[in-house]
Amino acid sequence: MTDFLTPVLPRSTESASSTTAGLDAWRSMTAVQQPTWQDPGVYSASVKELSSLPPLVFAGEVDVLRERLAAAAQGKAFLLQGGDCAETFDGATADRISARVRTILQMAVVLTYGASLPVIKMGRMAGQFAKPRSSNDETRDGVTLPAYRGDMVNGYDFTPESRGHDASRMVKAYHTSASTLNLIRAFTQGGFADLRLVHHWNKGFMANPAHSRYESLAREIDRAVRFMDACGADFEALKRVEFFASHEALLLDYERALTRIDSRTSLPYDTSAHFLWIGERTREIDGAHVDFLSRVRNPIGVKLGPSTSADDALALIDKLDPNREPGRLTFITRMGATNIREKLPKLVERVTASGAQVLWVTDPMHGNTVTSPNGYKTRNFDDVIDEVRGFFEVHNALGTFPGGMHVEMTGDDVAECLGGADPIDQDAFLERYESVCDPRLNHMQSLEMAFLVAGALSKS
Ligand code: PEP
Ligand code: MN
Repeated sequence: MTDFLTPVLPRSTESASSTTAGLDAWRSMTAVQQPTWQDPGVYSASVKELSSLPPLVFAGEVDVLRERLAAAAQGKAFLLQGGDCAETFDGATADRISARVRTILQMAVVLTYGASLPVIKMGRMAGQFAKPRSSNDETRDGVTLPAYRGDMVNGYDFTPESRGHDASRMVKAYHTSASTLNLIRAFTQGGFADLRLVHHWNKGFMANPAHSRYESLAREIDRAVRFMDACGADFEALKRVEFFASHEALLLDYERALTRIDSRTSLPYDTSAHFLWIGERTREIDGAHVDFLSRVRNPIGVKLGPSTSADDALALIDKLDPNREPGRLTFITRMGATNIREKLPKLVERVTASGAQVLWVTDPMHGNTVTSPNGYKTRNFDDVIDEVRGFFEVHNALGTFPGGMHVEMTGDDVAECLGGADPIDQDAFLERYESVCDPRLNHMQSLEMAFLVAGALSKS
């Protein structure tokens, strides 16, 4: 058993070895966006329980991902990261998980085939249960209650009971992540993701305008597969796909409790997911989030919004990737369509000049959020696409690599973002707006986006 992980013992009994030293330094730093747990007894019991539960991912898988991301940073692969803004416990059903995985597989096929590049498939899944919020409270009809902060913290229902911060929800988040990941592993290893089933993934999406475009691509792949089959090719490699899990590392109690020492290397890995990212609101260089994540071996992402200076980016590199290790650090830029062409070049130029090899990924969602006239949080598909185009333009002009995209999407037929080939208008929100947080691309918009990105990638 080379990659088995042993739990980190609770602090009081942990020997002061160099491997665990510093993992708790964040406790004396400013940690923004943390819950105010109501019951200290429930809090300690929950953290204790999480500390003794098995890891959700293994260190060996995390190391493989780091290698894959290193390839993407060098333009030899492309990262596709997608999923809900906020997963919910109720949403962790077989149908919904399967639709999301199928959609990501479809997008990946479109990108791989269109751009002839390996695509790293990663879900914002199996752990995306905690949300940073711009306001602590929410007011409806004169009643003010704590804001919803994700199912790991409180409930979406607008009642005082539901909105209280309940630490036992962290344990439920762990178990929901475990069952989600179990199904993802079954789908991606057990035959469902076999490339010879490209048509099958499209079933149930018949009414979709991107459907026929995808079908013709699937027919081309089929012909290629039959040709290879006739030549006696070995299809073992097509039967399974690698699929990685990621979420925003927001709740430091949860992330710390799931951090384990890898018995092969004696180094700490945050075993709640393969990839963790730091959000735009928690990337303070002296803050608790940056400190904690600087100490785990996982590949780390940081979201960079339009206010990021080149000095901020360089300081983050020094802290999170002092050894300039390819695959360690991903910058996920979310500038907004109107800013990207102006703001991104300065960052990329300075980072490149510093010698750091970060992976550049576009999040074309978060800088393009608006409120629809009828009061819904939404995004225009055209703005989303424009930011993606800007991302490619900037990297192509500078000779750097547009290495991936990060999108909020679902496999379901929801109406949350405006526009697309079969346009969603705001009236559709009344019937089909389901997100408890940010608006997601629906199945059709996701496929449409994949075709557009495949085109841009093959040119770049
Ligand atoms: C998110 O990814 O849902 C999010 C909150 O993003 P950001 O940190 O970029 O605002
Ligand atoms: Mn979001």
